[in-house]
Amino acid sequence: MSFAKATVRDAPVEGRRVLVRVDFNVPLAGGRVADDARIRAALPTIELLRERGAALVLVSHLDRPKGYDPSLSMAPVAARLEELLGTPVRLAPGVVGTEVEELSAALGPGEVAMLENSRFEPGETANDPELARRLAGLADLYVDDAFGAAHRAHATTEGVAHLLPAYAGLLLEREVLELSAVRDHPARPLCVILGGAKVSGKVGLIERFLDTADQILIGGAMCFSFFGAQGIPVGGSLSDDESIGLAGRVLSRAEASACDLALPVDLVLGRELDANTEVMELDGVEVPDGWIGLDVGPRTAALYGERIASAGTVFWNGPMGAFELEPFAAGTRAVAEAVAAAPGTTVVGGGDSAAALHAFGLADRVDWLSTGGGASLELLEGRELPGVEALLSADRVAGGR
Ligand code: ADP
Ligand code: MG
Repeated sequence: MSFAKATVRDAPVEGRRVLVRVDFNVPLAGGRVADDARIRAALPTIELLRERGAALVLVSHLDRPKGYDPSLSMAPVAARLEELLGTPVRLAPGVVGTEVEELSAALGPGEVAMLENSRFEPGETANDPELARRLAGLADLYVDDAFGAAHRAHATTEGVAHLLPAYAGLLLEREVLELSAVRDHPARPLCVILGGAKVSGKVGLIERFLDTADQILIGGAMCFSFFGAQGIPVGGSLSDDESIGLAGRVLSRAEASACDLALPVDLVLGRELDANTEVMELDGVEVPDGWIGLDVGPRTAALYGERIASAGTVFWNGPMGAFELEPFAAGTRAVAEAVAAAPGTTVVGGGDSAAALHAFGLADRVDWLSTGGGASLELLEGRELPGVEALLSADRVAGGR
């Protein structure tokens, strides 16, 4: 399968200034980067551009500040990148403006600057043409390696891509290729495991997979909306009327589908969402009053594990339970281990699922661990990603190399 967009490999970057949109939306703790996986994932594109003599102006958002917020400065991110690259990374005094323009103009080949948090500018999420114009003025070319932000039409992901020759970075390219393979031509059977907190954000994906997957295995808080729709008592488990309605719709579509939609057969309950709460294993799924379903049980984990082991392709999004709390981590750990051991192609998306794999030390045992949460789900759902669409088509540069 080929990638339809022009990539950084084809970009004439020598001696040019390149604005690189990266996804450095990383967790911070105590003024330092707590998990640098997303920074490391962008290194191949950054190194390639430096080797080819480009001057780099990096830009990312960090968290969701509404305007300037010094606690969400890119300073710790620039410091971590500097360590990883072994070269100075100059932090700009803002996102755009005269001083930023001067900094960018002074960069030599191989040098790296980082703009401040793009969300310090209200025009970022509004995709303001004036902000896009000022960003475009900082460089000669644009490279987008921020797959995790590609589902947002923002000034740094979409607006600016129309104003400069725009190329895909290596990470963005690989993400699109790996996820499109799951969507368009998976090795069969395709087994999809969906968990996490909410049905509403994932219902489009479930419905799409009802048409294309062989099995969908449901876990996480999401299963309680399905149980609710079946009239099964869910106690204090996480679900709401909207999600129950959506789950009911999915269940009736599933009846007419060749895809097997599996729900948990046993659960682990707690009195409250707390690591020290009273815990009860339930061989069944009718949650008594006064209890919350917080993990799938061991029989469910074993059944799901068998399906995962015999799949040609596995896609997993969303933890099976409140895995951050040790009493409720077993279901997610069992699924993570099954995915890691599976002989089929394994692809994992979603921030919390990735965090779970990292926590269990299994992150390098899957074939592709997506850096995109929402972006990976939207791509799999078949929706166009504005950050990808805005890039040059591959055929526009094919003859120009
Ligand atoms: P991802 O980021 O992988 O897409 P989500 O953000 O949808 O996943 O959901 C992850 C969150 O869901 C985790 O914080 C986890 O604790 C929570 N969760 C999973 N199962 C349950 C449950 N049964 N009750 C409450 N929270 C749950
Ligand atoms: Mg999440």
